[in-house]
Amino acid sequence: MSAPFLATLKHSNRCRLRAFSLVCAGALLFSGSACSLRELSAPPSSPAFSTSVEAKLETLSESSQTFTEENCKLVQYPESSLHEGDLILVNNTVSFLFPDNQQDSLVPLLEQKGTGYKVKDNSVLVDNRIMDSLNTMMEDFYQETGYGDVTVVSGFRTKEYQQILLDREIQQSDEETALKWVAKPGGSEHHTGLAIDFSLYHDNGFSSEYDGTGETSWINGNSWKYGFILRYPEDKREITGIYYEPWHFRFVGIPHAAAITKKEMCLEEYIDYLKQFTFEGSHLQISCGGKSYEIWFEYGNQAHVPAEGNYTVSGNNIDGFIVTAEQNP
Ligand SMILES: [Zn+2]
Repeated sequence: MSAPFLATLKHSNRCRLRAFSLVCAGALLFSGSACSLRELSAPPSSPAFSTSVEAKLETLSESSQTFTEENCKLVQYPESSLHEGDLILVNNTVSFLFPDNQQDSLVPLLEQKGTGYKVKDNSVLVDNRIMDSLNTMMEDFYQETGYGDVTVVSGFRTKEYQQILLDREIQQSDEETALKWVAKPGGSEHHTGLAIDFSLYHDNGFSSEYDGTGETSWINGNSWKYGFILRYPEDKREITGIYYEPWHFRFVGIPHAAAITKKEMCLEEYIDYLKQFTFEGSHLQISCGGKSYEIWFEYGNQAHVPAEGNYTVSGNNIDGFIVTAEQNP
C-alpha cells in the first residue's frame, strides 16, 4: 500500500473504511489500486443538484394552516416516543437512546435488497422502514446509469461497535481529530438503522471509495426524492461537527428530504427551523411527488394530529414532536 494511498485514506474515507475493515479483512487491500480504475471510468457528471429539486418540488410554503383544532385531536405520547421516528436528531451532543425493541425492526439488507446494487455481506442490518425507499432509489439509479458497483457497506451499528471504531481512530491520531471522523458511541446515526454508507465494489475484485461523482452523482443529486439526505455536506462541517461524507445517507422521509435539500440545510438546522411552525401558528407546507404535506412542531409530550387521514409523528430526540400530515387532494 503506497504512502499517497494511505494519505488519501486518512483524509477522505476514513470512517467508512475503518468500519468495513473490521468485518471484512480484505477490504483495505482491495481499495488500494481501485482509485485509478474509478477515475478512468468516470463519465461526465449528472445535471446540477438544484435542477432536480426545482423540477420535482412543486411548492414549499411557510404559511399553511389547513389543520386546526376543528379537524385535529390531541394525543399524549410516552416519553420514549420523543426519541423515536424518522426525524430524530443524533449527533455527538444528542445521543440515540436504544429502544428495547429495536431488534424487531432491523432486517438483513442482503436478504431484502432489490436489484441494481450490492451489499457487503449478511452483517449489514437496516431498519425495515428504509427498505422500499432504498430499493426503489437503487433500481432507478441502475436503470438510469447501468452502473452496478455501488455497495452498502454499513448500516446499523451497536454502541459497542462504535466504541471499537472510535478507539481505532484515536490510535491513529488524537481524540479531538478522531471525533471529526467517527461519532461517539451513542452519537452515531448508524445506531438508528436509518443511515447507510456506500462504497464501490467492482466486478474485477477491486473496491474504491464512493465519492458521489461520475455515475454516482445521480444518487447524491436525487436521493431526496426517495427520502434520503446527504447527512454531512461539505459546507456544514461547523454545524454537524463531522467532515464531508459523500457516502453517508440518512432516511428522513420524502417531504422532509425535499425541504432540507431545497433550503440547503443540514439536519441540525432543519430541526431548529421546524420549531417556528407551531400548531397554533402557520405550518410548513410541502408539495412534491403529487402529494402535499403540512408540517408542524409541538413541544412536550403531546401533539395535535389529524382526526382523519394519513399522518406521521416523529420525536426530534430533544424536546418535542414533528407532525407530518397529508393534505387531502
Ligand atoms: Zn456513515
